[in-house]
Order: sequence, then structure tokens, then C-alpha cells
Amino acid sequence: MSSRAHGGAWVLAIAAWLVPASAAGGTRRTTVFLDFGGGPIGPGDDSSQGTATCVPEPFVYPIFLGSDRAAEIALGEAQRLVAPFGVRVVAQRPPPHLPYTHVRVGGDPVTLGLDAKLNGLACDVDCGDASHRDTVFMFSEKWIVTAALPELAEDERALQVGRIAMHEAGHAWGLEHAGGTGSVMSRFPSVGTPEFVEGCLGLDIDLDASECGGEREQFCPAGQQDAFAELRGLFGAGERDVEPPHAAILWPPDGHVMRPGEVLVVEVEVADDHEGFGWMLEVPELGWEHLGREPDPAGLELVVPEGRWTLRLEAIDHDRNVGEAAVTIEARWPREPEPDPDVPSPQAACACRGAGSGASAWWAMLVAAARWRRRPVSRGPRADRGSSRP
Ligand SMILES: [Zn+2]
Repeated sequence: MSSRAHGGAWVLAIAAWLVPASAAGGTRRTTVFLDFGGGPIGPGDDSSQGTATCVPEPFVYPIFLGSDRAAEIALGEAQRLVAPFGVRVVAQRPPPHLPYTHVRVGGDPVTLGLDAKLNGLACDVDCGDASHRDTVFMFSEKWIVTAALPELAEDERALQVGRIAMHEAGHAWGLEHAGGTGSVMSRFPSVGTPEFVEGCLGLDIDLDASECGGEREQFCPAGQQDAFAELRGLFGAGERDVEPPHAAILWPPDGHVMRPGEVLVVEVEVADDHEGFGWMLEVPELGWEHLGREPDPAGLELVVPEGRWTLRLEAIDHDRNVGEAAVTIEARWPREPEPDPDVPSPQAACACRGAGSGASAWWAMLVAAARWRRRPVSRGPRADRGSSRP
């Protein structure tokens, strides 16, 4: 009997066990997704899954109410601000295996039950950018209520949308408030043409001391911040990366034959010239994929039903260079099973029993592995107050 006759009882099971052959050198890079499209959000710590640490319960985040032109201006301003760094800003959703900082652009502070004076929110100041999958908020309805504003007024406001979005992303990378109106990390919305300022600026903080003292004091005396140097330290310079990541499937070999239900340990190797790249392993025929998470696993356990399947590995960097590898495997029973006690008959090895419980166990392991990942200590939301401007 084909395993598929069991009504889809087969589940692909995967467990990440080992620590990696993934060796990446060089400065890490990252991507910022300016998300004007609204959509579901809930509690959690993974931007690619639509979750944020300071969202208590699921709801639908509102869309951006400005025009397409305003969104383009905001995007352009955000890209200008991080051009000196290895940071890419996009308005299209990145693939989920690429780690990114998610900026929800839309709504107002009341959307999150916050003080109406706020322009944006970062769930916390993520010192040293420990989490690569933060979500932050830019409350654009305070700036662009509708797309029907006169064009010039909207253009100016759209620049502020881009600046506040990157200010909040700055918090998600560990930056605190510092400097005056020429600094993107100023407590208040900037005037003129602000930057992530190079040179030490006095911190403008509510607490007695910097939240990220250790990281900060590599660059400046206590009580000061060099936003430019910190972002260069995290992400390097902004030149385009043209080197695709390395992706190889070390096991199984192409054409590998196995029995349905047999545990296959897949070994993959991924690397890139910059850290921060993403990777995934998929079985496209089954619509199944495993997204790489840190620490990158080198050993993946897989159980497939009877049939021919593709294992496809993809690694992608922040300039969207892609490295890939694929092998075909076949899971089938021996053509004429011998009455050998070591060889289970198809019935005896039926997927619905053998794989059912096994799959549950493997998923449990995967969940356990996920729980080992700890967020850095959250010091509470970083809320940004508005100025006298609207
Ligand atoms: Zn702020």
C-alpha cells in the first residue's frame, strides 16, 4: 500500500541537531522591510512570521493610507539614510529565510494602545542587534492621513515617514536617542537632511545610564553615541555584494534510494562572504520547507513517503545573490520483498503508525530547540514622542 493512501497521515519530520558547518566570515549584513501593506501581527519574536515581542495578542495591522508616490519617497529616504552601511531597504516582503527588520508603516499609536503623541515604537533597544528579526512601528497616520493631501505637503511628510521608520530600525539595532535635529536618532523628528551622524553625540536618555553601555563604549566615552561607527561595526560599508553564497548538499547523493519511512539525515553546508544570510531546505513536491535559523544546523532529519522527491537547498544574501543545490531521492519498497524478518512488509512499516509517533517526537524536538533561543533581556518599549509638528 502506498503511504499516500493513508490520507496524508505522513508528515515530514525534521530535527536540527548539530551545530553547523556553516562558516561565514566578514561583517553581517541586513535588510529592512518597509511594509506599507498592513496585515496580521501577533506576539512573538520573528518578523518573517508576522510577530513582534511587544504585541500582546493577534490583530490586523492597518495599511499605509498615503499614495504610492508617498511610499516611494519614504522608501528612497530610508535607503539614503543607510546607504553608507551594508543594509538594504525594500518595500517588497523578503523571503522568510532571509533575516530582516520589519517596519510596519501605518496606523497610529492608539492602534497599539499607546500615547497619541508617539510617532513610532521599537519594542526594545536591541543592544548589539542581538535579534535579527525585530519588528518596529512607524505610525504614519499621524503624518499622512490620506492620499488626498496636496502633493507637496505629502512629499515633505513622506520624508519624515522614511526617517522615523529608520529611527525605529536604529533602536532595533541597539541605537539610543542622541543628538539634535540633524541626527536621525534625535528624540524628536528631524529637520533639514538628517543622518546617522558620525562622531560622538551626547545621549538623550530617560534612564540613569545607557542601556547598551558595553557595546557603546567601544566607540565613544560613556554617555555618548557614534551612530555611524556602530552601524559600520554591525553591518560594514554599503558597497554592493556580488558574491553568491555557497550551498551544498553533502548527503544524500543525487539518486539516493531509500525505503519509505526511513530516517534520512540530510547534511548541508552553507556559507557566504558576509554573515546574516538566510537559507532553506525544501521538498517542493510536498510543499514542505525548513527555514534556517541560528545556530545553523548541519544535520537535518527527514522522513519522506514513497515516491521520487527533490531536496533543494537555497542560500540567499542581502543583495539577493542566490546559491543553490538540489538532489533527487527515491523512497520505495524492494520490488519483491523477501520473507526476511529484518525487512518489514509494507503493511508492517505502514506510515500511519511508524511515522506518526516519530513525527510527533521530532516536532517536539524542534520546538524544544526553538525554545533554547532566548531573546536578549527586554528593557521595555522605546516610544518616540512627537514634536510640535503634526
Ligand atoms: Zn526613538
